[in-house]
Amino acid sequence: MKYISTRGQAPALNFEEVVLAGLASDGGLYVPEKLPEFSQEEIQQWAGLRYDELAFKIISPFVAGAIPDEDLRKILGETYATFRHPAIAPLVQIDKNEWILELFHGPTLAFKDFALQMLGRVLDYILERRNERVVIMGATSGDTGSAAIEGCRHCKFVDIFILHPHQRVSDVQRRQMTTVLEDNVWNIAIEGNFDDCQNIVKASFRDQSFLPDGCKLVAVNSINWARIMAQIVYYFYSALAIGGPQKPITYSVPTGNFGDIFAGYLAVKMGLPVEQLIIATNKNDVLHRIMSSGIYDRTNLHHTLSPSMDISISSNFERLMFDMYQRDGSKIAALMAQFEDQPITISSEAMESARSLFSSAAVDDATTCEVIANTFARTGYLLDPHSATGVGASVQCRTSAEQTIVTLATAHPAKFPDAIAEADVGVSPSVPPHMEHIFTSEERFTVLDNNKSTVNQFMVEQLAAQRT
Ligand SMILES: *Cc1c(COP(=O)(O)O)cnc(C)c1O
Repeated sequence: MKYISTRGQAPALNFEEVVLAGLASDGGLYVPEKLPEFSQEEIQQWAGLRYDELAFKIISPFVAGAIPDEDLRKILGETYATFRHPAIAPLVQIDKNEWILELFHGPTLAFKDFALQMLGRVLDYILERRNERVVIMGATSGDTGSAAIEGCRHCKFVDIFILHPHQRVSDVQRRQMTTVLEDNVWNIAIEGNFDDCQNIVKASFRDQSFLPDGCKLVAVNSINWARIMAQIVYYFYSALAIGGPQKPITYSVPTGNFGDIFAGYLAVKMGLPVEQLIIATNKNDVLHRIMSSGIYDRTNLHHTLSPSMDISISSNFERLMFDMYQRDGSKIAALMAQFEDQPITISSEAMESARSLFSSAAVDDATTCEVIANTFARTGYLLDPHSATGVGASVQCRTSAEQTIVTLATAHPAKFPDAIAEADVGVSPSVPPHMEHIFTSEERFTVLDNNKSTVNQFMVEQLAAQRT
């Protein structure tokens, strides 16, 4: 399988290279040159497979040539053995045609574990055979950092540095990261906000000359193709579990960087019958505005009760735009160049193709709280604030009472106790037993100034000390 850039100017890469690459050299994102396609008969035959067995069916065409089947099966088996629910991604029915797909049974209680538990293992596998080490560097406002650290803590060939804004992430989120004490894990608390952290990371990727020879940075945010790939699986899994593929389902997906829902779009392209994909945003509604007006513009960032969806631009949307424009890389390159300093208008033909599958809604904090409270009162089910935006959007976008809607529950409510308190449901979510230890365990992190050279120097010193 070959991967090509959305901007058409970078060399095509194979799977191994694409996992290590991050952004393409032309600034674009990598996508498969051609997707595997499955017939309805074939998909039907997968009903009843274990999650990791189904994952093998869906993922193996993407890694063909890079990881032999037997090794891939082993990696996937180990990946999903870290999940605490035997179904891995269980479905809960909360009304006649309303379902919740629980994606929070992984080690850090958010859906990012589905991809990052796999990515850590895939990286280690590839690096061992290439006889290389890499340094992962990332910024986090919450879920990505802990999921990445959990996914890489046992890696032999990966060192990981995660930057978070000092005193600006929740207690649970910080402790999930800082109580991991393995020698290849560093938490850096930056005296600044999330944007400061992200700016340092971006600048470090642009200029990696501070690193020792032969060492390179790898990205674990959702521009990394492997993350999208892993997320395709649970669309097939959930559809099969509730009577697909004959019955087309609608998915409502709490969305920030458009990674998770883009995986749903790929599932459709690969043959899964889906009625509608609902883009659920919070007050940061850039995607809802694109869908409504065809105009892609930047606005200020709002801090909301669903912080993992707080973004002002949505990187993976470029991957969809590439298809909306018939995979014309030069067109995407021109549009994205324009987007550097002004809004862009997407053509009406391109918007029409997107609107035939996607609908969208923005759900503000007040509505999020109402949805949490109403859903609990109506069904006894406690949603986290991200998942609540998904349920809120599903109500707004529902086209008939008969439509089967599955909302992706992207995090466990215990990760966001403040939002649950604000929704005033009268109960507080309890932290699952396997996570209780973080409240008493030793923490390790280093507070550094908001300065690229300070951070880079710290990284170099730590790597040198570790490698002697
Ligand atoms: C990351 C995250 C999202 C947004 O996912 P994208 O792939 O960026 O759209 C939604 N909910 C939770 C809990 C998250 O951690």
